[in-house]
Amino acid sequence: MARTCLPSTFALNLAQGMATRIEREGSESQVRRHLPSLICGERIAAVSLSEPGAGSDFSAIATWAERAAGGWRLHGTKAWVTNGAHADLALVYAQTEPGSGAAGIASFLVELHADGVSRAADVPLIGGHAIGAATIVLDGVFVADDDLFAPPGQAFKRALTGITGARIHVSAMACGIVADSLARAVDHGRVRHSFGRPLIEHQGLRWSLADVATGLEAARALTYSAAQRIAAGADATLAAAHAKRFSADMALSGVAACMQAMGGVGLRADLPFGRHLAAARIVAYVDGTTEMMRDRIGADLARRRGGRPNPEAPR
Ligand SMILES: Cc1cc2nc3c(=O)[nH]c(=O)nc-3n(C[C@H](O)[C@H](O)[C@H](O)COP(=O)(O)OP(=O)(O)OC[C@H]3O[C@@H](n4cnc5c(N)ncnc54)[C@H](O)[C@@H]3O)c2cc1C
Repeated sequence: MARTCLPSTFALNLAQGMATRIEREGSESQVRRHLPSLICGERIAAVSLSEPGAGSDFSAIATWAERAAGGWRLHGTKAWVTNGAHADLALVYAQTEPGSGAAGIASFLVELHADGVSRAADVPLIGGHAIGAATIVLDGVFVADDDLFAPPGQAFKRALTGITGARIHVSAMACGIVADSLARAVDHGRVRHSFGRPLIEHQGLRWSLADVATGLEAARALTYSAAQRIAAGADATLAAAHAKRFSADMALSGVAACMQAMGGVGLRADLPFGRHLAAARIVAYVDGTTEMMRDRIGADLARRRGGRPNPEAPR
């Protein structure tokens, strides 16, 4: 799907992922009340961690969950909510004890048509409009105890577990936009001639596309390797960071190289190169930035001694 449109694939994948999470982690009442309408597509779900003041440093979120009779009242502003423009339900992360960092964060299933929820005006983006990223303001929104999804102490941990799978999905999507760009650049290179021969017969251009093909194969291998760890029930945190880091960089350089091979035609708005380029930028941010992936990989290296895990190092 991402070969055609990464942003809509991402939005759909996120909505499906929320249904899976409710099925796996939700209470009996949450599964009964929320799952059927999400599965049949009647309602759309979103996941809301980021805020205007906290992105990579998720433990610094300021949205506050205040205790109220029979539930909680949520106050704060959430940013970059994928599907947020149209979503009916969001998994919202909020701080229950200001100043307590990750330990105080809980997550809640919030009805986005409830009193006190408003969606801020769209911020114009350079692309990726199908993601429907929105800013959502929560002004004392009431959430019943029944819709507490993960209590303080568990929500942060569970969010990090969920994000591992999401990183592998994004890595696969990055492979999709490069596969489409490469196929188009190769087709063009076969039919377009310069200096008496097809473009693809010129070594400079051919080598450039060969490098894209190698990057794509490597990214696919890392993606499948991480996915196989998940399928086998093994810890895929590090494998997912490797896959997403590599695929994100590969997509940025790969799409640009394919676009270059098209000549000026690559700029045509009816061809997908510009959209793919914007999508490659999105890949570099969503579900953890490229720097955060490097940080995760670096933290693992720091824990090792002589190439092996160091059991004494802090985790
Ligand atoms: C299209 C789109 C859709 C999104 N969808 C969602 C969604 O559905 N739900 C949701 O909760 N969030 C969503 N996000 C938010 C996304 O997760 C954040 O953009 C991301 O976590 C980075 O946060 P930030 O943009 O605030 O950047 P910041 O955290 O402010 O970082 C800015 C830059 O500094 C770098 N940086 C920060 N800290 C460090 C460090 N310690 N070392 C080195 N570099 C560092 C970052 O890598 C980045 O390059 C979405 C974002 C986009 C663009």
